[in-house]
Amino acid sequence: MANILIVDDSRTSRKILRSILESAGHTIVGEAANGEEGAKLFDELNPDLVTLDITMPVLDGIGALQKIKESHPNSKAIMVTAAGQKTKMVEAVKFGADEFIPKPFEPEKLVAIVEKIIG
Ligand SMILES: [Mg+2]
Repeated sequence: MANILIVDDSRTSRKILRSILESAGHTIVGEAANGEEGAKLFDELNPDLVTLDITMPVLDGIGALQKIKESHPNSKAIMVTAAGQKTKMVEAVKFGADEFIPKPFEPEKLVAIVEKIIG
């Protein structure tokens, strides 16, 4: 079971992610609503895994991923994507994204991806 940080500007998305992941036995150690806050919380909480929404104000998911991977090279990150974000996904791969999960969330798929990553 993993300690997970959720970073998403949508309160609804955070709520859904929390519910799916907690139901699968994981612990949500924190939530942030933008990439800046998310990277800062990552430093404080050192979670096993972070979910990063791509589109967020202040600092987007790509920027947060870059920051987090720079200071925590062994960190694990799942990018939360929406339709039409192929270019952003390619960019995220360059910065070390471990996996992608599209919105709307499919609970079983999400849980399987998390388990694959934390193995
Ligand atoms: Mg968003």
